[in-house]
Amino acid sequence: MRSLLLFLLLLFVVYFLRRKFAAGPARPAQPEQVAPPAVREAEQVLPCAHCGVLVPHSEGVESHGRFYCSAEHAQQGPAAG
Ligand SMILES: [Zn+2]
Repeated sequence: MRSLLLFLLLLFVVYFLRRKFAAGPARPAQPEQVAPPAVREAEQVLPCAHCGVLVPHSEGVESHGRFYCSAEHAQQGPAAG
């Protein structure tokens, strides 16, 4: 009779532990919102004064207060007309 009680107690403990671990370990705290690398500060896109092509500001050339898509167009100056 005593071994039966021990057996039932063991079953209860196993059942309790299985339920506890079935829910999964406690999740470690993670930062909620990490900005993906693709999302960056928007860069200004400007038209070339010579040909009108839209170029990101970091890839263009500024000359005499105007923005150009390349050094070549900066040398040629703004479009005539
Ligand atoms: Zn251009």
